[in-house]
Parts: sequence; structure tokens; C-alpha cells
Amino acid sequence: MKLDTRAMRHLTAEDWKVLAAVEQGSKNHELVPVSIIERFSRLKGGSSLVNKCISTLAKTSLIAKMKEAKYDGYRLTYGGLDYLALHTHSQKKHIYSVGTRVGVGKESDIMLVADHTGAQQILKIHRLGRISFRTVKTNRDYLKKNASGSWMYLSTLAARKEYAFLSALHNAGIPVPLPIAHSRHTIVMSLVDAPPLRQISSVPDPAALYASLIELYLRLAKHGLIHGDYNEFNILIREDVVVSTSSEEDGNTEETITLTPVVIDFPQMISMEHVNAEMYFDRDINCIKTFFERRFHFKATTPGPFYKDVRKTVGQDGFERLDATLEASGITKKMAKDLEAAIRQHEEEKLQNPEAFQADEDDEDDEEEDEDEETASDGEKEEEQQPSIVIGFKTPSGAAEEGM
Ligand code: ADP
Ligand code: MG
Repeated sequence: MKLDTRAMRHLTAEDWKVLAAVEQGSKNHELVPVSIIERFSRLKGGSSLVNKCISTLAKTSLIAKMKEAKYDGYRLTYGGLDYLALHTHSQKKHIYSVGTRVGVGKESDIMLVADHTGAQQILKIHRLGRISFRTVKTNRDYLKKNASGSWMYLSTLAARKEYAFLSALHNAGIPVPLPIAHSRHTIVMSLVDAPPLRQISSVPDPAALYASLIELYLRLAKHGLIHGDYNEFNILIREDVVVSTSSEEDGNTEETITLTPVVIDFPQMISMEHVNAEMYFDRDINCIKTFFERRFHFKATTPGPFYKDVRKTVGQDGFERLDATLEASGITKKMAKDLEAAIRQHEEEKLQNPEAFQADEDDEDDEEEDEDEETASDGEKEEEQQPSIVIGFKTPSGAAEEGM
């Protein structure tokens, strides 16, 4: 799935209304009948205008017909939902232009965008259900049991959950990107000018960095939360340089560099009270330990931290519990369960069937449109990339070097 915004500026106000009508109709219809599209779009021009708009939208692959349909109807495509979300962000002046893609996982596209002032930000487009929907047969049963347009439901839920946690964590002073806006399956957040831990080949003090990662994790735990995917891809390492004058007379400056972890990616976050909390806790901690051993040849001298001890710290020291954030944001228990099931299924598929995640996405058994032309392996390519960033060292000239 590639976000192609070229057709956006050619759409008329009527086209947008018809597109929104298809979205609205999708809540109750897998295939939205033309009569419903007409009713929801409330266009004065009547059915001929609606048909004209439908034809424009179908040509641009924002809506699509399904083969073997019993009646004349359309459904929203990924592209259609992307356009609606972008349109909302643009109207609210959160996004003015869309730039390059920073990253593509199987669950999201990360785009560099700019607002009206030219400030760069990140747009995360959730794509949960994408691979499962297209390439993994077993998942079809799961999806069929659920709401129509399941990818839309799941991706939208993932974005809602992520935005809710991003906001809650930001308010609690946890280093995360600044949440800016949320629409449908997308969120806009600040661009963190820091590489993911994955790309860092060397740091001056691995022990100190390790300690700060564990400390951050334990802070989340005190808020009642388990990240659930705490790994080298989801932790960005920011280099903070503090310059101070060491002596009044000679004016020499002293530089201190601190490495601050910024945590991202929250759709899978769970409560410390979740039935599988301990398993996810251990998995996260082990992920960091393994990475530090492999990359920096650093092994912590003390064992742990252990879930049973950390469990006792939830809500301590005046830490506000944030594990009820979801309910507070209107995500019901059923929705949370659906999302969790989809994420778990996705993880399992990735483990069992890595080829499916590398294969081309064009497995369109029952879909007519396909605007995808790239392979799905971009995420994996990133994994193959050699880490190259040296961070946190002072250079002889006194300037911090990023070594890119
Ligand atoms: P996914 O759910 O697909 O793993 P992530 O939220 O982890 O998506 O983002 C994927 C990658 O995009 C990250 O590893 C990071 O390199 C980059 N990224 C995501 N959000 C930001 C941000 N706010 N600032 C800078 N880089 C980001
Ligand atoms: Mg990630």
C-alpha cells in the first residue's frame, strides 16, 4: 500500500461528500449500495451527480466494486480511508503537505509531513489487518466473524489506542513524541530527531544507557503499563548536549552529553494486571538484555527486574495509573479484545510464516482494485541494514558527532 496523494487536489467538494458517504455506509454494509451512498451524500445534483462522483472515486481507486456482488455497491479502499484522514488533518491545519516515507512496517506506514508553518511532523498510518487479510488464509475466518471492513475497524482501533496512550504518557511526562492529532486510522505526532536504538553501533557507556532504558520501563510499570514491544525499533535515542562554561577566565566550555530514550509504538500496550502481564514483561526485559549483549557486549550484573517485585510498585510514589486510559477514551472491553487478538495473531503469523511478510502483497483473491506495487519487505530490509550510528561521544573539537 502506497500513499499516493496526487489525486487529492483534483477531488471536488462533491467527490469528498460521496467518499464520506461510502465511509459512513461501510459501518453497516460490507458493500455500500448506491442508494445508500446517494442518501448519505445529500447532494443536490441527484443521482447523476452522485454517479459522476462515484466514477471519479472508483477510477482513483478510493472506492471499489467487488466481484460477484449481488447488487450494485462500493466499498472504501485503504486509499479512500487514507484520503479521508488526510483531508481531515488538512482541514484542521495539522498537515499541509506529505513528504517521504520514513518507514514501513507490516502494521503501519510512517510518513514525514509538514504543517502550514513548514514544521515537520510524523504521520503514522495504521495498517493492521493488511497482511492477514491478503495473504494468510486462516485469518479470513477470524476476519469474517468480525465487523465488516475489518482492516478498517482494526486499524482505526489501533490508532485510537495509540493516540490515547501517547497523550496520557505525554501528560505524565514520559519521553514520547508530542501527540498532535488523530483521525480514523492515522495519528500525527512530533518528529523525534533521534535514531532508533537498532541503528546505533556504539555508545560511550552501555551500562548507563541500559540503566536508563530499564528505568523508563519501570516508570511505565508504575503507571500500571507494559509496553509489550519494548525493543530496539521502538526506542529512539536522543542525544541531549548541555554546554556549560567551566572557568570564567579562559572561557573554556564543558560539554555533557546525555542519551535520553524516547519510546514509541503503543497499539499493543497492556495493563500490569493483564492475565499475561508477566509473560509480556519478561519478554520486553529479555529483548533489551539480549540486544545489549549482542550489540554492545554488555551484560547486566544484577538479575531482573522481576515482574512480581515490580507489580508491587504500580501506583506508588504518586504515579497516576494509566491502564484505565483505554476505557476513558471510549474503547470498550470488546474493542480492546478484538485489537489484542488481531495483534497477537499478527505476531504469531510473523513467527510462523516469515515468508508471508516478505512476499509481495498483491494477493488479491477477492478484491478488484489493487494499487499496491511494492513488495512488503521494506521493514525487513531495514533489519538487514547495518547499524552505523555512533552516539554520545564527545569529539575533540567539543562538538557532538552523530557519525551518520
Ligand atoms: P510500527 O508499528 O510499524 O512498528 P512505529 O511506530 O514503531 O511503527 O514506527 C516505525 C519506525 O518509524 C520507528 O522504528 C522509527 O524509526 C520511525 N518513527 C516512528 N515514529 C516516529 C517519530 N515520532 N519520530 C521519528 N521517527 C519515528
Ligand atoms: Mg515499531
